[in-house]
Formats: sequence, structure tokens, C-alpha cells
Amino acid sequence: MSITDNLKAIKQEIESVSVKLVAVSKTKPIKDLEEAYQAGQRIFGENQVQELVEKHQKLPKDIHWHLIGHLQTNKVKYIAPFVSLIHSVDSLKLLQEIDKQAKKSNRVIDCLLQIYIADEETKYGLGFDEAIELLESQEFAELTNIRIVGLMGIATNTQNQKQIKEEFYELKTLFDGIKISYFKNQDSFREISMGMSADYKIAIEQGSTLVRIGSDIFGERIIKHFKNEEE
Ligand SMILES: *Cc1c(COP(=O)(O)O)cnc(C)c1O
Repeated sequence: MSITDNLKAIKQEIESVSVKLVAVSKTKPIKDLEEAYQAGQRIFGENQVQELVEKHQKLPKDIHWHLIGHLQTNKVKYIAPFVSLIHSVDSLKLLQEIDKQAKKSNRVIDCLLQIYIADEETKYGLGFDEAIELLESQEFAELTNIRIVGLMGIATNTQNQKQIKEEFYELKTLFDGIKISYFKNQDSFREISMGMSADYKIAIEQGSTLVRIGSDIFGERIIKHFKNEEE
């Protein structure tokens, strides 16, 4: 099936339950993104800063660009002027840098806290306690140009559906707890970014609001021989 057909099929599935789609276009050529754009897709996710910047320059300006991969503090400045949502905030230090660069661009940047839910050592993210600690800190209270709009998590890469379900359930439970404790009357805290090609159906059942889908739209990626794809 073509990119257009894939997108149509996935959108039909998820929009009936009002879940939003991030089309994960990492490693894919501009023409593939253009096809998705022509088919109506406006949210694209990339995991590398340089690739995100290049694609942003080349493609229409009404695209919402999401950074979904690990972000180094020294690279925040390149995306701060335009990025719509950063899914991968995993430290206070990073959040402080995003705040600083957002100020320079006169913006408030929306962010998700990436929570560690997988049973794997390669995944980035905050532990549950670390997330709470961050939200309770004085340093966090002082930030003016970032807005935490929810949480993000990556489940274990496994065939075990029950395990995946439990990991997403834990993320949803943490989200509900954080919402009540720290964002009670703030409608903006509402996103749970969970679910990829292999597990987005389970994620939606568990309360995802934002699925990040790559290969089911654009086809398999050429495997890169890096230690970690998200690096
Ligand atoms: C690559 C990636 C995805 C998409 O993965 P697919 O299996 O191709 O759907 C989603 N989230 C993150 C963080 C990714 O790095």
C-alpha cells in the first residue's frame, strides 16, 4: 500500500476515538513527507535535531514538528524557534535549557515528560519518583517559557501483549495522579504520548491521546548500525 493509503487506514482507526497521529518520518526522504502532507497529515515526528531542522526548512510552514527522540541540551537552540512539541524531556537540566531558548524566541514551548516504563536498559526517561521530584522542585516552579502538557512513554519491544498493556496502564495511572496533584484545573495537561506501529492499538485502549507511528505509514526503515536508534 502507498503512504497515502496507509495514512487513510490508520486515521480512520484512530480519529473515531479522537487520538492524534504523529507521523514518524525519521530517515525518510522529503518526497515521502510530501506525500503524507498531500494526504492531509500535518504533525510529523523526528528523533534527530539535524534532520528535524533540515526537513522543517524544506517543507511547508503549517507543519507541526515534534521532537520524539533523546535531546541533548546543546542542541535545543536549533529547534526552539519552531518546534511544536518536545516529547522527550528527561531531566530538569534539559527543561531549563528549553525554557532559556524559548525565551530567546519569545515562545512558550510545549513539552512532555518522558517516563521510563520499559523493561529495557536502552530507553531514556524519568523514573516515576524522578518525575514527581522534578514537578515539586523550586527550579521547575521558576520556569516561565515551557508548558508541560503531558507524559510520554515507550513500551518494551516485546511480543508479550500483556506486558505492553501493563506498561501503558502504569503510564496512564501516573498521568492521572500527576494531573490531580499538579495540574488539576489546567486543561492543557492532557496528552499521553504512547503507542508505535507495533503497539498503538493497545496504547489507545489504555488511554493514549497521541500515537507516534512510523513504519506502518512509511514502510520499514533501513536499520542503522548505531548502538541506539534514538541517539
Ligand atoms: C521511531 C520511533 C517511533 C515510531 O516507530 P515505528 O515502530 O516505526 O512506528 C515512535 N516513537 C519513537 C520515540 C521513535 O523513536
